[in-house]
Amino acid sequence: MTTGKLTILGCGSAMPTFQNSPSGQILELCDKAFMIDCGEGVQLTLRRMGLKTARLYNIFVSHLHGDHCFGLIGLISTLGMMSRRQPLHIYAHADLEKLLRPLLDYHCQDLSFEVVFHAINPRKAEVVYEDRTVSVSTIPLKHKVPCCGFLFTEKHRRADGNGGFYVESRRRYAYCSDTMYTEKILPLIEGTDTLFHEATYTEQYADKCKLTMHSTARQAAEIAKKAAVGQLIIGHYSARVDDHGLFLQEAKEVFPDTLMAEERQQYQI
Ligand SMILES: [Zn+2]
Ligand SMILES: [Zn+2]
Repeated sequence: MTTGKLTILGCGSAMPTFQNSPSGQILELCDKAFMIDCGEGVQLTLRRMGLKTARLYNIFVSHLHGDHCFGLIGLISTLGMMSRRQPLHIYAHADLEKLLRPLLDYHCQDLSFEVVFHAINPRKAEVVYEDRTVSVSTIPLKHKVPCCGFLFTEKHRRADGNGGFYVESRRRYAYCSDTMYTEKILPLIEGTDTLFHEATYTEQYADKCKLTMHSTARQAAEIAKKAAVGQLIIGHYSARVDDHGLFLQEAKEVFPDTLMAEERQQYQI
């Protein structure tokens, strides 16, 4: 049984609003759950939605801006209170371990499970996770600090007719946040079934967007169009824009198959 479901836990940007929490997603692929980014408040949304964490073994963190990682210590502490036994693997820039270790040593001394940090190089496109059915590789992005997206590929082993097997790639999901417009990512995400691309600003804030090294909804759509992806999901909305319909409108003018990320919503990928 194959699954491909994306749950949005948070789709705001750095400033939390009543409408949006900072970044966080759960990707369910091949009966496994992967967390992508873990902004503050992500664990509350998980609980509110009744999502189980028993199948959650791996968390991928795009970069170390707070809106993508401030939720980790709270989540880990809560999982400890739930007497979790399975290890939790975190894939992130090497500095995350330096930052989190002292917090874990102080707040989570008797943690019932192991937290395993895997240092990734955000500047290089490479496979950082692989099991029998899923592989995850990095997508170097252009942002104020080292940052990468993640490409999730569902794999299937098929008989080759000669007693052997070959691996066939199926569904692919690309997560690209945070980044300014960069065509360097196109070869990495070309033909992806679903692309999540940040759309922090509308065109009205194009200057601010450039300064903060983010993308507008229109730019996200340009990338989706040039990469010929199946569908685009936009998110990481700035608190400056109240009407989220504007993001969708501007993106759809360029790439009609655009969906707007909304918290606690689930998407087939
Ligand atoms: Zn961000
Ligand atoms: Zn950022």
